[in-house]
Amino acid sequence: MKYRHSAAQSTDYLRLALKHMTQHDAGMHPTSYTVWYEYVSGANPALRRELDSLLQGGGRLNDQKIDDLHARHISELDARTALRIGDSVSQLVGHVSESTAAAGDEAARFGNTLARWNEELIAPATGSGALASGVEDILRGTRQMQEAISTLRTRLAESLSETERLRQEVARAREEALIDTLTGLTNRKGFDLALAACLAEESAQSIGPCLLMIDLDHFKKINDSLGHVFGDRVLTTVGQILRANVKGKDTAARYGGEEFAVVLPNTPRGGAVGLAEALRALVAASRVRRSGDRELVVGNISVSIGVADRIAGESATDLVNRADRALYAAKMQGRNRVVLAPRPEAKAGQ
Ligand code: GH3
Ligand code: MG
Ligand code: MG
Repeated sequence: MKYRHSAAQSTDYLRLALKHMTQHDAGMHPTSYTVWYEYVSGANPALRRELDSLLQGGGRLNDQKIDDLHARHISELDARTALRIGDSVSQLVGHVSESTAAAGDEAARFGNTLARWNEELIAPATGSGALASGVEDILRGTRQMQEAISTLRTRLAESLSETERLRQEVARAREEALIDTLTGLTNRKGFDLALAACLAEESAQSIGPCLLMIDLDHFKKINDSLGHVFGDRVLTTVGQILRANVKGKDTAARYGGEEFAVVLPNTPRGGAVGLAEALRALVAASRVRRSGDRELVVGNISVSIGVADRIAGESATDLVNRADRALYAAKMQGRNRVVLAPRPEAKAGQ
């Protein structure tokens, strides 16, 4: 069990956590509670340090900040720890299994040698001699030992396959932790990992990568006039369009709320703008039916897209910010359009 606090102690932490939760803007949801619980109980020193410095600055935490803290200090940690434990248990059992197998082989060799001696010793003096019966005793003992080792070997082989099964389960759970449940796309945490991996792999000669930030237009109005459930169907539809058209090394993610992002490694900006334009047109042409309502089919759904191609050496945050500013420009220019982020003058030609 992760938390080993008594009922009384955890009730105190609950009170303290609630006090913090009410002083910030994030919702009163389990993610927020976990963050504050780990903070007040002192269970997570790295989280505590970061929160302390945020609180000292007098900042109020919104959902995005809480999600970010949870992703970096809690879920990421859990998944990594679980994987590490799975790997080391599997390695350990593997080593024990190997040495037991070696011990078994050794015992078998020893047994064979004794058997040979036995034949040589008892053959000329059948039925007589304490020496021969002594060797038989040793032989019997050796066989018992061999049987015990072989049983142990079978058990270890079973544990090894069980450990492998657990390891796969942990790996699957980790993958699931990176998926957004509504759209089936990679979630924000998966996006951060994909973008970081893509920037880390980028070689000096490589083109791109490019980033698309996509935001549904007037989505609040859609929710307000047609309901949140319908809003969710719109998000699912956009998710399907992204899944069907973003493939291979490219990653489409739900960035948060009604925002999506696409990471395109090795893609020149012309290619990225082309894909963005295709996605924009597909969303604009899509029709979403309200469930249980045969009549109501809603068109007029659109997205605005900001595209940025990375400037050499640019950080993930700066790249996201430039794509975001291009997205904002697309909104300002009337929505349902794609805008390519300008490359700063000083770095032109890179
Ligand atoms: P703009 O064109 O400027 O982007 O306007 P907008 O209305 O899309 O933007 P705004 O940020 O004002 O509103 C976003 C809305 O998205 C508000 C919020 O309720 C809604 N939203 C966020 N996440 C979800 C979700 O998971 N499901 C549904 N149905 N709505 C969501
Ligand atoms: Mg938005
Ligand atoms: Mg919007």
